[in-house]
Amino acid sequence: MGMTRQRPGRRSANGTGTGRGAPRSRHGSETPNRKGEKPPAAAVGNGHRFDFHLHLSQYWPQPEVNRYDLGLDFTVEGLTREMDAQGISDGLLLQLESAPGVEATLEEAELMFRASGGRLWPTSTVDPTRGADEVAHAVALWGQNPELRAIKLYPGYRHFYPHDERLAPVYRFAAERQIPVLYHQGDTLDPMGKIKFSRPIEVDEVAVDHRDVNFVLCHLGNPWVEEAAEVVYKNENVYTDTSGLVWSPRLPYYERQIARAQRRMENALAAMGTVDRVLYGSDWPLESLELATRMIESLDYPRAEKDQILGGNARRLLGKRRRSPA
Ligand SMILES: [Zn+2]
Repeated sequence: MGMTRQRPGRRSANGTGTGRGAPRSRHGSETPNRKGEKPPAAAVGNGHRFDFHLHLSQYWPQPEVNRYDLGLDFTVEGLTREMDAQGISDGLLLQLESAPGVEATLEEAELMFRASGGRLWPTSTVDPTRGADEVAHAVALWGQNPELRAIKLYPGYRHFYPHDERLAPVYRFAAERQIPVLYHQGDTLDPMGKIKFSRPIEVDEVAVDHRDVNFVLCHLGNPWVEEAAEVVYKNENVYTDTSGLVWSPRLPYYERQIARAQRRMENALAAMGTVDRVLYGSDWPLESLELATRMIESLDYPRAEKDQILGGNARRLLGKRRRSPA
């Protein structure tokens, strides 16, 4: 296999893992992110930034604490205001496994899409452990929804592997529509999650078996960042997002966490040898859009490549979508 596969060569490490100038002291403040560095004016003004990983839902677990800033406005207005401040025109609104069912995800997706003036793009999710009928039902409903832009799955939270056979109809649907399938990867917010299901290596199998589907490893596979980088490097149909690597300024060692996340991101990008399949994401409301974009801006990469990460790659990937099956 290795002899015949064409793939982009690994570039030597481009960055030096600096970004040390970016973090500022934030201790003791609940709303420090509003005082952070502004990205360059040109980037803010271009309106092409796209956030691949946003949440805004009535099913968000413990919204009173699961937010980077206890004072943040967890509404469409609050989110779009932060998007405007960072020059983010649109984003994927990822539906949650905690929703009561597929109908609920689609209803909420449509509501938010409309309320945001089309800026929060609709997605859905399904839990295959609820059985084959649930999956068939989900796929039937998705088939009636031409606006759907992506499917998000939660293997660690719901205790299934990405290569679970019950997901075959989901992958068929994603291939027909040419919309990506995202996996929550790595650590789970919920201690009842089982993280063996959320390792990047488990996605390699579906990536090989479903070459006609594009997959996204969320959170750079954190903490398995190098493992995620390898799965992305090896498989041209696998992407990764940069979301949720740092959480709240309320947590100890926040500055160190930011510095560590930046180093790890630089390492992962160097291991992939390309930024073509790296997607900027925040995981708002867990991470501020200001910090999430700043970590990309701090990368030691040329402007054009940072712009690819900040939106170009997302638009190319999501632009493949067909509104109905081929
Ligand atoms: Zn998330």
